[in-house]
Amino acid sequence: MKIAILPGDGIGPEIIDQAVKVLNALGESFSMETAPVGGAGYAAHGHPLPEATLTLAKQADAILFGAVGDWQYDTLERALRPEQAILGLRQHLGLFANFRPAILYPELAGASTLKPEIVSGLDILIIRELTGDIYFGKPRGVRIATDGAFIGDREGFDTMRYAETEIRRIAHVAFQAAQKRDKRLTSVDKANVLETFQFWRDIVTDVHKEYPDVALDHMYVDNAAMQLVRAPKKFDVMVTGNMFGDILSDAAAMLTGSIGMLPSASLDANNKGLYEPSHGSAPDIAGKGIANPLATILSAAMMLRFSLGKPEQADRIETAVKKVLSQGLRTADIYEAGTTKVSTAEMGDAVMRALA
Ligand code: NAD
Repeated sequence: MKIAILPGDGIGPEIIDQAVKVLNALGESFSMETAPVGGAGYAAHGHPLPEATLTLAKQADAILFGAVGDWQYDTLERALRPEQAILGLRQHLGLFANFRPAILYPELAGASTLKPEIVSGLDILIIRELTGDIYFGKPRGVRIATDGAFIGDREGFDTMRYAETEIRRIAHVAFQAAQKRDKRLTSVDKANVLETFQFWRDIVTDVHKEYPDVALDHMYVDNAAMQLVRAPKKFDVMVTGNMFGDILSDAAAMLTGSIGMLPSASLDANNKGLYEPSHGSAPDIAGKGIANPLATILSAAMMLRFSLGKPEQADRIETAVKKVLSQGLRTADIYEAGTTKVSTAEMGDAVMRALA
């Protein structure tokens, strides 16, 4: 099995090193090949998603991705900025289903900004459609308005659109994920205001006929944002579009205390996937050896489960992560008085030891 390793920028290489270390300790014979991406891709080959990196990603059975982005590239034209690499990979590989579990380990209940009784034991899964919606809809740009209240003025515009096929396939993914959990699915939309999301609601309701064992409810996105901080444990699986999912999944991330704990998977129709931590490249702490590698290590576990057919190895990693947390080991982002502060590499080593 071939894994493409794309460390990227900022803390990407530091956290990926830990995940690779853990994968190597499993006793499996994976072939791993590393390639530059993001700012590192631009520096090496003049493009955030170099041709050779894309080819490697296409050939691999799964991709383990660090993070991209660095302030030194912020003045480049948009098409050459590091973040274009991740958008390009999603599009080229057809990675339309983004899984973002938000789990609050009881040991970290104090790290959340919410009261422990609201979040302790939280275990929700947000499924975000990843290749459609207003993020990719055309036309888009800046033009002179020819109608509305500001004719003759410059205006920025984007297009929100979803094809029936796109909604159906993400709905199927979500219902099937719910079947493997508590069999409850909340579809989040803005059907009261947006035509696109009334259509979304109609299609999800239709797909539901094929999954009578799953309880479906619909919720407007503003209410969903409110409920996520009011009573997050009442959700099981949430499914939503690209933009709403972007926002809600980051809000859900913070329920768990640190974005450094949250893995993610982006899957195509055949369960080939790209696995990455939910956070970015954290340039503010890059090179200091203090980044939390657990989101990346847990992403590697998701990769074993979803793309590489090794659920027992995924379980081993997840159990090892729980063990190091119960041993009181913490990187700076989740540190509390009474626990032991460790570096990025020390956390990786501890997970590796806990595998045994
Ligand atoms: P960020 O997630 O990189 O950082 C937000 C905050 O969280 C920072 O204070 C950072 O130090 C902290 N943080 C993040 N990951 C951490 C970890 N593992 N351990 C400890 N602390 C951690 O978001 P940002 O600052 O908005 O963006 C920085 C760069 O990352 C930008 O260039 C942005 O475009 C990029 N980005 C990339 C991705 C991706 O690669 N998929 C996603 C989001 C942002």
